Amino acid sequence: MRGAFRNSKDLLDHLNLPNTGNFIENEFSTLVTKSFANRMKNTYDDPLLRQVLPDVKEQNAHSAFVEDPLNEFSTSNKNSPNILQKYQKRALLITSNACAINCRYCFRRHFPYKLHRPKNIEQAIFEIGLDSSISEIILSGGDPLILDDEGLQAIFQQIDNIKTIKTIRIHTRLPIVLPQRISEGLIHTLACTDKKLVVVVHVNHPNELDHETKRAFDCLKNSGAWLLNQSVLLKGVNDDAQILIDLSNKLFDQGVLPYYLHLPDKVAKTMHFFVDTKKGQRIHKKMQANLPGYLLPNLIKEIPGQPSKTIISA
Ligand SMILES: *Cc1c(COP(=O)(O)O)cnc(C)c1O
Ligand code: SF4
Repeated sequence: MRGAFRNSKDLLDHLNLPNTGNFIENEFSTLVTKSFANRMKNTYDDPLLRQVLPDVKEQNAHSAFVEDPLNEFSTSNKNSPNILQKYQKRALLITSNACAINCRYCFRRHFPYKLHRPKNIEQAIFEIGLDSSISEIILSGGDPLILDDEGLQAIFQQIDNIKTIKTIRIHTRLPIVLPQRISEGLIHTLACTDKKLVVVVHVNHPNELDHETKRAFDCLKNSGAWLLNQSVLLKGVNDDAQILIDLSNKLFDQGVLPYYLHLPDKVAKTMHFFVDTKKGQRIHKKMQANLPGYLLPNLIKEIPGQPSKTIISA
């Protein structure tokens, strides 16, 4: 992480791009790993650059775009604010408040991590264990793999002792943005658990995948994890059926199955990425015509108060 770009100017210099002044730093700071930047092309249109450069358009405001469109700030558990439980059987644990990259479209960019500081993960896991209806723990964040190997090992050991938990799921972007993080120590921790293991990664564009991500995925698979991918449909990045068809095929080449294609939430400062449901359905229909069923992600939308994510059909 020491080599990561922490302001846009350094990133643009690295890409030999002229400063057009079309970006502006704000409270959600620029953060891009070298590894991710190395997969960008030297143009402002690059789909990877677009995901991380704080465009001046972030200043565009609209009353429909709010800080917490999913009502997450209040759905957390009173005793353990780092547990988010919206659905039955699954509890999401905010394991870390940081990521290795700051994606401009992030739906948790305004999340009050200060109030939900993951300081007492042990207490949170203990509470999840008291509710025998919960069979799956989702480690999320932020990015759980930002924790060090010892921290993760402690979490895994504690969960291993809860009989009613059958599955540990990790939601992470680290295998893509910092593939070096998939270390021997991490693989050892993952391989040692008796629980079923699911790793949901986050890739939006086929250019994010290369030999480094392939190595990281291979290691994760060797530890016994199922690998799935979720993408967010983003204007100017991947709002095109052919790009998403290529993404599904390339994920499959690297041993990952597509899981969800999220319609973007109406999050403040992300209006320039918005794609509406109709357009999403048109794209999804074309994908369906060109992919085997097992490479077609579910097109979904998150509607607050619903008992699950909502699948949008064509
Ligand atoms: C999305 C989400 C889940 C997982 O839902 P799946 O449909 O099982 O992938 C669980 N908890 C929360 C709070 C979520 O936002
Ligand atoms: S990796 Fe995920 S949680 Fe982190 S900034 Fe990107 S979209 Fe948000």
